[in-house]
Amino acid sequence: MARYTGPVCKLCRRERTKLFLKGARCESSKCAIETRPYPPGDHGRGRIKETQYLIQLREKQKARRIYGVLEKQFRNYYKEAAAGGGITGENLLRILESRLDNVMYRSNFATSRAQARQLVSHGHVLVNGRRVDKPSIRVRPGTDLELRERSKDLVAVQHAIDTEGDRGIPEWLEVDADERKVTVRDLPTRAQVDTQIQEQLIVELYSK
Ligand code: SF4
Repeated sequence: MARYTGPVCKLCRRERTKLFLKGARCESSKCAIETRPYPPGDHGRGRIKETQYLIQLREKQKARRIYGVLEKQFRNYYKEAAAGGGITGENLLRILESRLDNVMYRSNFATSRAQARQLVSHGHVLVNGRRVDKPSIRVRPGTDLELRERSKDLVAVQHAIDTEGDRGIPEWLEVDADERKVTVRDLPTRAQVDTQIQEQLIVELYSK
C-alpha cells in the first residue's frame, strides 16, 4: 500500500494553492501557503513559463495529491473512467470520491484524508459489517459503513466530528455521527463534488 510520506505542505506550495492536507492547521496562520506562498526549492521564486501542458500537469498532480493517490493508480482510475461511458472527467471524480478513505473524510469522521486513510488502514472501519484495512476500497450505493464498537470512542474521531461540522455532509451520504455510521445513498453527481479540481484539464492531459 504505497503512499507519499514526504512533507505535505510542500505539495500545496508546489501547486500554489491550499490542498487542505493537514486538518486544522490548514485554516490557521501557520499554513505554509500563508507564510511561504511560492513553490519549494532553490528556483521556487523564479519565473516559470506557463504552457498548456504545465497547466494540465499541475491539475493532475493537484488531484492526485488531494486524494492521496500515486501516479500508477491514478492513471488506472483514468482508464476506468474513460472506459465507463459518459463524461470521463466526471467519472474520474466519482471514482476518486468513492474511495473509502474519502468517504470517511467527507463524513467528517477525520480532519483530513490522511487521517481517514489511517482510520481505515488500522482496521477501525467496517464495510457492510466486515472489517477492512484498504483505504482504496470503493463504496457503492447502499454500502453501509461504521466504526468498530471499540473504535467508536476514539478521541480523533470525536474531535473531527466536533470541529469539521462546517464542511457539511454531502447529499449523497447519510451520516449518523452519534452511532458513527454512514450509508452511501448514491455516488455523487459532478454538482455534488465540492472540489477545486478542473477535471477536464486532466482528461486533456491523459488523452494526448
Ligand atoms: Fe497545505 Fe494545509 Fe500545509 Fe497549508 S497547512 S500548506 S493547506 S497542508
